[in-house]
Amino acid sequence: MLIRKNAYFDAFRCIAGSCPDSCCQEWDVAVDEDAAAYYRSLPGELGDRLRQKLKQEDGWYLEITDRRCPMWRGDGLCQIQFELGEGALCKTCREFPRLTHDYGDFVEYGLELSCPEAARILLTAPARPAVEGEAPGGETPEYDAEIMDILLRTRRQALALLEQHPVPQALQLLLLYGYRVQDELDGGEAVAFDAEAELAFARQMAQPGTAEDLRGFYLSLELLTERWENRLRNPQPLTRWPEEIRALARYGIERYWLQAVSDFDLICRVKLILSACILIKNLGGDPVATAQLWSKEIENSAENVDTILDAAYTHPALTDVRLLGLLER
Ligand code: SF4
Repeated sequence: MLIRKNAYFDAFRCIAGSCPDSCCQEWDVAVDEDAAAYYRSLPGELGDRLRQKLKQEDGWYLEITDRRCPMWRGDGLCQIQFELGEGALCKTCREFPRLTHDYGDFVEYGLELSCPEAARILLTAPARPAVEGEAPGGETPEYDAEIMDILLRTRRQALALLEQHPVPQALQLLLLYGYRVQDELDGGEAVAFDAEAELAFARQMAQPGTAEDLRGFYLSLELLTERWENRLRNPQPLTRWPEEIRALARYGIERYWLQAVSDFDLICRVKLILSACILIKNLGGDPVATAQLWSKEIENSAENVDTILDAAYTHPALTDVRLLGLLER
């Protein structure tokens, strides 16, 4: 079976006590069945605390207390890991921020942006192709092979396009190229993509505007932290498009492009990526920290991701002409 890993996957190391945020605060920790059974069977004080804090609703989870995991110690380390070792951690904590996308006959591994250290690596390190290798195992895939072929080929093309133009134009091209690919997914022929002609078209179509609607839309989503709400209400837009935004788009393409194999809908995922890029430029501050916070609020909430994917075709802030217009500025 083919495995494909983000080039920086193996370089990640948790910075624990030095972490400026933490995966142990502000969200409940989903606990897998095996770990939950083990925790509930533990003797002593740790077992008592775990039994008290483990809750069940659509699966087991550790309920946060004072906005943080009850197992999080004052020094930023985990009490479970401290007393019982890394092997005693639940699957969520063992794997975070590592992502696995298993397509049956191949698997992709990546890092998730909601971890500050992963965000630092992903958004500041130079672009590098994924590392491919072989691993035992694999299953007959359930996906549509023709659609997957299109997505794999066009993802490479999208990643190449992203590197060949200044950031805002590269993002405009990403949207327009996304429509070409969507045509193919819908049964159309593959057509050559002329970037210069497409940029001229983008300039014609772009509708001037501000990012206020986009911020309003994000404010209407489920909000996890006050920090995020404050950032959305008090933007300090950057005056230029930093390279970290290009890296954010790269991360989005690598993470979401192939997911269109599930419903053949690529455009809504391209708009998820573009809305993040535009929002983060318009919120200002350190783009790495802002992107990390975006990910924590959005990518870790299936409800928020679904709302954005659904709104891609209907919300006025996410129309093609508005997005192209915001990329002209
Ligand atoms: S968010 Fe990342 S760096 Fe911070 S504690 Fe969690 S895994 Fe470690």
